[in-house]
Amino acid sequence: MLLVNNIKLSVDKDESELKKLLEKRFRHKISSYRIRKRSLDARKQPFYVYSLIVEIDNEKRYLSKDVSIYKEEDLSPEYKKRSSKIIIAGYGPSGIFAAYRLMEAGFEVEVFEKGKRISERTKDVERFFKEGVLNKESNVQFGEGGAGTFSDAKLTTRIKDKYIDYILDIFVKHGADPSIRYENHAHVGTDRIREVVASITDEMIARGVRFHFEEPMQEILLNEKRKVIGIKTDKGEYPCDKLAIGLGHSAYESVVMLKEKGVTIEKKDISIGFRVEHPQDFINERQTSSKIEAANEYFLRYKGEKGVYSFCMCPGGMVIPAMSDEETIVTNGMSYAARDSGVANAAILIQVFKEEFNDGYQYLHELEKKAYEASSSYKALSQNISDFMKGEVHPLKFESTYPLGTSLYDFNQFFKKEDLKILKDAFRDFDQKIPDFIDQGIIVGPETRSSCPVRILRDETFQSVNTKGLFPMGEGAGYGGGIMSCALDGIRIANEVIKEDGEI
Ligand SMILES: Cc1cc2nc3c(=O)[nH]c(=O)nc-3n(C[C@H](O)[C@H](O)[C@H](O)COP(=O)(O)OP(=O)(O)OC[C@H]3O[C@@H](n4cnc5c(N)ncnc54)[C@H](O)[C@@H]3O)c2cc1C
Repeated sequence: MLLVNNIKLSVDKDESELKKLLEKRFRHKISSYRIRKRSLDARKQPFYVYSLIVEIDNEKRYLSKDVSIYKEEDLSPEYKKRSSKIIIAGYGPSGIFAAYRLMEAGFEVEVFEKGKRISERTKDVERFFKEGVLNKESNVQFGEGGAGTFSDAKLTTRIKDKYIDYILDIFVKHGADPSIRYENHAHVGTDRIREVVASITDEMIARGVRFHFEEPMQEILLNEKRKVIGIKTDKGEYPCDKLAIGLGHSAYESVVMLKEKGVTIEKKDISIGFRVEHPQDFINERQTSSKIEAANEYFLRYKGEKGVYSFCMCPGGMVIPAMSDEETIVTNGMSYAARDSGVANAAILIQVFKEEFNDGYQYLHELEKKAYEASSSYKALSQNISDFMKGEVHPLKFESTYPLGTSLYDFNQFFKKEDLKILKDAFRDFDQKIPDFIDQGIIVGPETRSSCPVRILRDETFQSVNTKGLFPMGEGAGYGGGIMSCALDGIRIANEVIKEDGEI
């Protein structure tokens, strides 16, 4: 196979033209091709630049600066019958991919997840969005697929890792659009990711992985040498040789339990803020590539005494209630595959250094409670950005997409004085970068669960520094943020377990 770089095609042309372009270039029929990467050049007359994997006879004849031999690496682990049993607690991206890879390698795998399977979980989430009745165990944070299931399911990450292709291939095998393999800002959408995750679970069940939904791990069991020997749930004790925990950033009870068991955990910096919403047309008009992409994104960053940045943008999406505790308010963002709500949202977050709080979970919980008290309901707090800048409150310039409604509030009462100054400087900076960003936007919040306030310390074998056989992974352990980085962390853990078993 050949890797052919730098093939250009105007954005208004159909991709089927690629085959003709290749055959014209090689003056020979090609057997097949697929897209490996596609990026947009929007400087003048917009066009896509492709890297293509091409099958053609006598391939060596065509080698050149842009054409090289392509060798596909098989990233699947070697399958063999293995004697150890691995328990995975938490079934978000880190748990899913750790379990999947260990199953592929031949381990006995048993998964414990606090929440429900997706079909039941979706009913609970929809009930909350419509009626404001929160199920503490089954919500946007907890259940099959983890926190990213009711999301935009953006698959972006800054990490460069060969296992990204392995993860994307599994998503595609289970129904995600093949374009996620090569789109620069690939997203699946909440509607599709739910089907994809359920299908991955079904495959694992069919291949012998045992699942326990609605059965949270309550305790880890250790021997006298501080080695994990099993877990306890409300249904009994389950022995294991190794335990991988990917519990997400909202598993406060489990963190308390792990601390009580003496597992080394330290505080880490976090971020807090809110969502901003703008009409999608306004964002599209302001972005250079607006002629091509209907639902457009921005990435904003301001460096003051603390960093302020945009995060988890959901073009054409909606702001959603993402709390897991009663009488609290937490916002986040979600989009359907079509990204067609007409409104763009993104979190705007400011750093909070670990020296600013004792217990990060308590700190965030108090902010979430404070928001609920100000609203007296699950309605999110809201304010025009222009009013926030002046400390005034007027009716919103447009209605928020937040499904439970909003309550007007002055966010000047929410943040510390020093942080308010930095946030306002950041908005002025963003307004320079995207003119009228302040005037056209509204705030909906607060957003407090973008990162985890602790890190469960690991050694070079990815195990807890003081508890053998315990593999902390993903966002809740402080080793990822986002679907791809947490999935990659799950793979890392699986690879280490495989290595310890003999080989990789
Ligand atoms: C609304 C929303 C939108 C998001 N959008 C995106 C996006 O578009 N793109 C992106 O990259 N990231 C997004 N994220 C972030 C991303 O979802 C997380 O970074 C990622 O899911 C973290 O993966 P994880 O495996 O570490 O943990 P999680 O996905 O949080 O999963 C942890 C799981 O552990 C379970 N659990 C907790 N305690 C226990 C216990 N004691 N026993 C057993 N199970 C337990 C929970 O129920 C949960 O299912 C979004 C997050 C939210 C909330």
